[in-house]
This record gives sequence, C-alpha cells and structure tokens, in this order.
Amino acid sequence: MEERRWHRFYDFWVPRSLTYPRQPLSALMDFAANQYGERTATIFYGAEMSYRDLRAHSLRLATALDALGIRPGDRVGIMLPNCPQFFIAFYAILRLGAVVVPLNPLYVERELRYVVEDSGMRALIALDTMAPKVMAVREQAGPELVIFAGLQDYMPEPVRPIYLERVRAQGMSTETPAGPGLYRWTELMERAGERFFQPPVNPLEDVAVLPYTGGTTGLPKGVMLTHFNLFANVIQAYVWAREFVRRGEERYLVVLPLFHSFGMTSLMNVGMFNGASFILLPRFDVEEALNAIRTYQPTFLPAVPTMYIALLNHPRAAESGLGSIRLCNSGAAPLPVEVIQQFARFSSGTFIEGYGLTEASPITHINPIMNLKKLGSIGLPIPDTDARIVDVETGTRELAPGEIGELVIRGPQVMKGYWNRPEETAQTLRDGWLYTGDIARMDEDGYFYIVDRKKDMILTGGFNVYPREVEEVLYAHPAVLEAAAVGVPDPYRGEAVKAYVVLRPGAQASEAEILEHCRRNLAPYKVPREIEFRDSLPKSMVGKVLRRVLREAAPAAPPPP
Ligand code: AMP
Repeated sequence: MEERRWHRFYDFWVPRSLTYPRQPLSALMDFAANQYGERTATIFYGAEMSYRDLRAHSLRLATALDALGIRPGDRVGIMLPNCPQFFIAFYAILRLGAVVVPLNPLYVERELRYVVEDSGMRALIALDTMAPKVMAVREQAGPELVIFAGLQDYMPEPVRPIYLERVRAQGMSTETPAGPGLYRWTELMERAGERFFQPPVNPLEDVAVLPYTGGTTGLPKGVMLTHFNLFANVIQAYVWAREFVRRGEERYLVVLPLFHSFGMTSLMNVGMFNGASFILLPRFDVEEALNAIRTYQPTFLPAVPTMYIALLNHPRAAESGLGSIRLCNSGAAPLPVEVIQQFARFSSGTFIEGYGLTEASPITHINPIMNLKKLGSIGLPIPDTDARIVDVETGTRELAPGEIGELVIRGPQVMKGYWNRPEETAQTLRDGWLYTGDIARMDEDGYFYIVDRKKDMILTGGFNVYPREVEEVLYAHPAVLEAAAVGVPDPYRGEAVKAYVVLRPGAQASEAEILEHCRRNLAPYKVPREIEFRDSLPKSMVGKVLRRVLREAAPAAPPPP
C-alpha cells in the first residue's frame, strides 16, 4: 500500500503520519497535572480530587512500590473496580517502568491464579473485600506482594459508614490479612515520601500494559501493549475528536470498567489527555448511573450497547437530565440501531459507534463526529490506521467494497504480540497486519460494517448465518428489550439458529408472534428454530452478551429419528 500523508475518507481528509510521542504513558498524568492542576480529576461518591493531588498520590505510591522493590519490567496486577486508586496505581506502576496487568475484579480463584501464573506477577493491588480469594491464590501461585485497597479509603465521611455497613451486611470484610508481603494501601501511602521518577523505559519496545483477552476460545492470552501503542491510540482518538472536545471542560461518566481496554484508553487515557473530570461509579448500576447523571451532568458517556439499552429504557430516564450528554460513543459490541434513535428523544447530543479490540489498544474505527455518520457502521479507520477486508480462507486476497471477509488492521496502536505465545502471535500478526477474527465489509465510501465474529458464525444446512442480523430483526420487534442468537446442534442442518429474548417490562409477546415477525424479515434458513424467553442475558463484566455461555447451555442435538 502506498504511503500518503493525507488520507481521503468520504468527503474529508485525515492526516497521516502524525507524530506520536515517544514518551512513557505516565507522562499523560504529568501533562494533566501541569496543564489542569486545580481542575477536578475524579469525583467519587461526592469526594473530589484535583489533578495535582491525583498526581501527588500517584508519586507517593510509586515511591512506596519502589521501596518495596518493584523494578522495571515487573508485572504488577490491578484488581480494582472503578475508583481513584485505579488511576493512582495505573500511572504509578508505569512511572516505575513496571507493567500493569489489569484484572477483572469478578475473576474467581481459578481465573485469577491463571493470570498470576501466566504473567509471572510480582505484586497485586487488590480490593480488600476480595482478600479471601486473593489469599487462596497467593498460597499456591503468588504474588509475593499484595497491597489491599478499600473503596472506603477515598469516600467522603458521610458515605463511608453506609458503605462499610453494606459490606458487613453482605458477609464480607475490609480487614487486611497480616503477614510478610501484605500491605494496606492507606498505611503504605502515609509512610511514603513523594519522589519524581523519570521512567526508565524505551517507549517503542517496552510493554506498559498486559491485559488478558481471548477467553472465548482457548485460554486467555496476555496482550503486550507498549507505551508507544497506547500513547498513539490516545493521540489518534484525540485528533479524531479535536474539533468537538472542549479540553479542560468535559465531564466523563465512568461506567465502563477501567480494567478493560475500552475504558482504559477511551475513558482514562484520552480523558486524562483532555483534562476531563471523571465521575466514577465502581460498577454499572442503572439507578446509580441515572442519579450520577442528574447530580453531575456528565458531558461524555462512553459505554457499551447493553448499558445504553438499560439507561434509555428505565422509567426515570426522562427525568434524569440526559440532556447534558454531548457525546455517547458506543463500542465493544454491535449497537442496535434503535438505541441511537432512543437517545435522540432525551438529548441533542451526538451518538457515534466505534470499534476496537484489545490487541489494538483498542480503537481502530470511529464514525466521524462532525461529518457524516452512518447508522450500523463502525465508521472509518482513525488516522494512520490501515484497514482491509481479506478473504476468510487464505487471508491474503483483498476484497472489493461490499464483499464480506475478515477485517485486518495495521497501525501504531497494534500490539507487539501475545505474552510468551509465539504461535498465537504468528497466527494473529501476519506481515504486519492484525487479523481481528471479525467478519466485516467496507462500503464504497470507506465506511466499515462488522458482520459478526468469525467464531460466532452459524453454519446451518450449508448457509452462513450471522447472529447479529437475526438479533437486529429481533430488536426491531416492539416487545423485545434484549436478544441474542446462537447456533445450536441440529441433526439435519448441523446447526440451527436459536434465539434468546428478554421482553420489555410490561410487554407481552408469544414465541409464535416473534417467530412470525422473524419470518417476515428473514430468509427461512435464518429464522430461529426456537425462542427461549429469559429474564436477563448472561453478560461479561464489560456488558457484552456472552453468546458462548448461551451456546454451551443449549441442549445437545436430539438423535435423528
Ligand atoms: P475486546 O478485545 O474485549 O475489546 O473485544 C474485541 C471484540 O469486540 C472485537 O473483536 C469485536 O468482535 C467486538 N466489537 C468491538 N466493537 C464492536 C462493534 N462496534 N460492533 C461489533 N463488535 C464489536
């Protein structure tokens, strides 16, 4: 592909060959503290912390970690929900040249042990209420050092006792176990000084963050994202939105988990670069999110489709002041088109869909914010990102606009490889291109559309069915709140389509009615063989519907008569 300094997308030009900082990612926090020092960085249950204080805390933690012996290249886990300590710890670890391993706080023992062992984790910063799980893993697999932090540590006085009472009522404890190598966040911070460290890293080569992904097939793999990868993705996203973002003025509602690449980059790193104030919610809860919207009037709400669906369908949505939201950017999973229309009832703000994957730091595509957006599209490749559709079989032949194939990506945000997995790395990174495992197409104007995940495709009687298409049809039925389609074993066709449906509160619809609606809108082989009604669908912590769980729960094929 020829090199160009500008790239034409539809009817506007996007710069190519931007200059990306060759700096450690922790420079983001120094920049924010210098530029926006007195501005509120985090709001946590009403307690506000300025950028200057946030950095002071982070320097303190870095000093403490250094004194505990954390060295460049050491892997340090963070297993925390969204809270100020996540920000403090993330940039402190990077400042030492150590590697952040973000962990899902909902991991059970087996999953935690796997990541601790696979990454060779030296230290872990974990939520105090998870101590039993952490201690059980530590006995068998490490890590050597554990620092327990509590949500109460940064809560304002009136909220703290209420939270602690709730923890007790749930039979949990905030006590820190005693013993060598075990520390309490608050004590460590009290004792530590505040030194400045010039991170001893080579940003182009050294890994900054090692998130685990790919749990749907095989075992999770650590994705090696360098300082350069992650910084580049911040600049790419910033350039995309630069005419729209008011730096130093935006307020982000943080409901996406920060341990996942979407929250980590789009919210935390990009927000830090923009001097945003972060309204932190430890987990997504519709009621709490609506209260926070009413109280703090966020201007940005990055989230995943299931979160938007829950918010916009809540009976109190209308009175919650969603009008303050200037931008919703949806990613991580397909966005049903209805959601955008629903949002327009509450706010004149902009709603755009983007796309990414952990292996690309994660953002690769976004719809234009100021120019033409296309419904159902993930938008255009962001600056310096090459995207192609190639045939699924060989992965080498580039397809024409409109043809369906695998999406491959090239750009400064693409990972260095998988941690200790040369084979998987060679399969995924070929000739400098990242094979996404997503089936997609590009239209004549260069806009991309995700058709589905390669591994979710249903093969029924020799036809390919993309579950997403079936789901779009189901979502269009007025009684349907959520829907998922999966392939289940079928004695005649190999696989058949089965749909899971959650009805809107108060709505009614029979299986026959919904099937009739499907028959009107889908070719016969795509129509589900059966519909199962559920109260809710299984979701990942990020809010993606877990089709795999539904597939595994489906009964085996009945024997042919
Ligand atoms: P993760 O690495 O957990 O961020 O997951 C990345 C995967 O999420 C991608 O490979 C896609 O399958 C899916 N994904 C992300 N954004 C979208 C989107 N806008 N539409 C459909 N699927 C998406």
